Amino acid sequence: MKLVKFSLIITATALLLWGCAPDEPDHEPVGSTPYVRSSSTVRNDSATKSVITSQESYQLGTHIVISIYDENQASNEVFDAVFDEIYNYEQMISKNIDSTIVDQINVNAGVESVVVPEPLFKLIENALHFSEVSNGAFDVSIGPLVELWGIGTSDAAVPDPVSIDEAIAKVDFNKIHLDSDKMSVYLEEPDMIMDLGAIAKGYIADEVKQIILQHGYESAIVNLGGNVLMVGNKPNSVSWSVGVRNPLSESTSHLGILALNDNSIVTSGIYERFFEEDNVRYHHLINPRTGYPEQNELLAVSIISNESMIGDALSTAVFVMGLDKGYELVQSLENVEAIFILRDMRVIATPNIKSSFKLVNNDFVMEDYH
Ligand code: FAD
Ligand code: MG
Repeated sequence: MKLVKFSLIITATALLLWGCAPDEPDHEPVGSTPYVRSSSTVRNDSATKSVITSQESYQLGTHIVISIYDENQASNEVFDAVFDEIYNYEQMISKNIDSTIVDQINVNAGVESVVVPEPLFKLIENALHFSEVSNGAFDVSIGPLVELWGIGTSDAAVPDPVSIDEAIAKVDFNKIHLDSDKMSVYLEEPDMIMDLGAIAKGYIADEVKQIILQHGYESAIVNLGGNVLMVGNKPNSVSWSVGVRNPLSESTSHLGILALNDNSIVTSGIYERFFEEDNVRYHHLINPRTGYPEQNELLAVSIISNESMIGDALSTAVFVMGLDKGYELVQSLENVEAIFILRDMRVIATPNIKSSFKLVNNDFVMEDYH
């Protein structure tokens, strides 16, 4: 029996506590923007002695919430700049839209290289770095397997083993060639497909942070479908409080609360995009070697980092690597911490983040890694 379930957890993955997440605003498109966007919701917040101005949109295939904390209501101009930037990146990076630059790279696989804008070149360069450090667990040439499984779409189904083997043969980050002189990208084999879904939201969140700072705001929360980036410190507060989602609950309840400042938390888990068939859950985090959604001891992993792009790429990489290799990788990197949530209900935090994390759900138990 196949149960198709598509629950893209929106603000739940990193639920912002104490009223940070704004009420559901009306979703009337504002002006002639080519994407659905709300008008501002404005709230006076006594705890932070700030005015919280929030706007939401539906872009990148997910729900986006931007909340700016300031003495006065934030201008519409900063939100225009933010949502336009997200739109421009989506038009550059999405593999789901015809003739984006990533689509052109894919269409020219095995044919010729494509000259790309520098931001995209740098993003792909970073993606290849994470493939190297994760020994291929993270691989943006994953596209043939993502398309084959169709997870997150109504066509999601378990492919036959022969098709999986054929798709695996088209996945290999070593066959992505970059030429920094020409600023070009080339996929060596026909039918290779680049999919930046596991790193681009984090990159875009970092870009959005720069726009908010350039407009003179110092405190904000950028939430791109659960890819959460805190800008600055929470006004008149010790820290931001971010809820880490309970992977086993249907609702947006959380199992713990994390105190963070001026950094990012990105979570990858088996509850975001999946379907079930014959009581087996097939989620969207695919092992490039086996061609199957990775079934290991993890339910989810959250990466805390200064840059959201790093957190986004590593959340996927570390999930696919599993606890032991993932923990080792995180420990080898500067300014990167992790919270591992295991199927056996253990929660393991890396040493430097442990004291900032408070478990609030007694079904789970904190344990040190050993
Ligand atoms: P992550 O762990 O960050 O990423 C998982 C995604 O990465 C998977 O969905 C798959 O695409 C890919 N992936 C799976 N395994 C691996 C691996 N081993 N290595 C590398 N990558 C892997 N979604 C839609 O439904 N419709 C859209 O139109 C749409 N447009 C998008 C446009 C852009 C520019 C971006 C960045 C994403 C878009 N998405 C779209 C995807 C959507 O935003 C998902 O939320 C996102 O891809 C999954 O991110 P995540 O944080 O849930 O999981
Ligand atoms: Mg990711």
